[in-house]
Amino acid sequence: MTQTMTVRFAPSPTGYLHVGGARTAIFNWLFARSIGGRFLLRIEDTDRQRSSDAMTREILDGLRWLGVDWDEEPVIQSERIERHHDECLRLLKEGKAYWCYCTQEELDAKRETAEAAGGAFLYDGTCRSLTEEQHATHRAEGRSRVLRFRVPEGRTVFNDIVHDETSFSNEEIDDFVILRSDGTPTYMMAVVVDDHDMGITHVLRGDDHLSNTPKQFMLYRTLGYETPQFGHLPLILGSDKKRLSKRHGATSVGEFQQRGYLPEAMFNFLALLGWSPGDDREVMSTDDLVEAFDIRRVLKKSSVFDEDKLLWMNGQHIRLLEDDDLFRRLLRHRPVELDEVPDEDFLRIVPLMKERLALLPEFFSTTEYFREDPQTYDETGIAKRWKAGTGALLSGLLPKLAASDFTAAALETLIREHAEAESVGAGKLIHPIRLALTGSTASPSLFDMMEVLGRDTCVRRIESALEHISEPDS
Ligand code: GLU
Repeated sequence: MTQTMTVRFAPSPTGYLHVGGARTAIFNWLFARSIGGRFLLRIEDTDRQRSSDAMTREILDGLRWLGVDWDEEPVIQSERIERHHDECLRLLKEGKAYWCYCTQEELDAKRETAEAAGGAFLYDGTCRSLTEEQHATHRAEGRSRVLRFRVPEGRTVFNDIVHDETSFSNEEIDDFVILRSDGTPTYMMAVVVDDHDMGITHVLRGDDHLSNTPKQFMLYRTLGYETPQFGHLPLILGSDKKRLSKRHGATSVGEFQQRGYLPEAMFNFLALLGWSPGDDREVMSTDDLVEAFDIRRVLKKSSVFDEDKLLWMNGQHIRLLEDDDLFRRLLRHRPVELDEVPDEDFLRIVPLMKERLALLPEFFSTTEYFREDPQTYDETGIAKRWKAGTGALLSGLLPKLAASDFTAAALETLIREHAEAESVGAGKLIHPIRLALTGSTASPSLFDMMEVLGRDTCVRRIESALEHISEPDS
């Protein structure tokens, strides 16, 4: 029977969902979905002190928001301690693990000596071959003990999906602890037993785990488990090429959600960190990504988290949304002080703003002029746009506006014809009108905006602006 391809995401709920973690989840998910495999979750909460249910919820919410769904109830690692314990004792019985009674102080002293001599500390095997008597003495002294894995001689070689053949000399790996003195398994052991029991066929995780893999690989072999395929994803770096951290700004998925990023954009952006579809496509839907995903195209080298690119991508995904879908998402960012504004007032400007938004909250923070006449005008705009002759141009336009049927198309014709009749470029009208209507130098297409504002508002605002436009003394 061939095994169903099964992958997992195994976060530790000791912190929020980091973009690096989310990227690992996305690669695993895309891999599973692109080949009809299973995507499972495991909550690695064995560090009871640092883990919390609130963090687990936050991580699951983040995944749901991104559209990363999982196929079975998440496995909770802390509920499987007995099973880990049993497998540890099996290794002990088979002579593949041994009790070590070295105290922390003894180990620290050896570490200091090794480091002072410029080397790294590797456990020296003091307890590797204790006699029955020695065991008994240590026990009688009341020493606590940990279980160490007896690392076999030789080399550990595995074929990494990303890095190809990867080889470690076992001499570089000391007899590591698999069961702590309090009887709890270490990460190294728990992860192997769980991956085996969950039927994991492919372990895709960050490069930071690469040094754990030879140890886990040996455990698989020694426990008699079939080894999964490993793939180590390149690290994500900040703009300074250092490992991405809080120093670089937001790193939690929840923070990006709050700032007004779309999950589609975040997903798309993270999927392209360390992977490419093999052509020049960048803006891709989740379905496109599932279709294009090929694990063999994961890049070896680290990729940089470029927030400007994410911002751009968010804008692109905003443009792809249907207006009503966009509006629904915008409402989640509506500030309370705009609660009273009828939905219709917002709905009619959605098509105009859709082309300009990078982040969802901008829809509310940059569109006040759709609701209220400007109280002030941008200073630089005044200097640049309201020149000698502008007042006369606008005054001449007013009666024409009053007579227009005020559709965007009619307004465009009218304004361009007025400019031509006055022998000026259309910009000499368009920019001053924009400043008069919005108080600023940036807005959606002037003609569309005028249609939405309506005749009365446009005429009133231009008349008010005329009071501020100084004409040279004649
Ligand atoms: N719990 C580990 C972490 O959050 C992941 C373990 C693994 O993927 O093997 O880094």
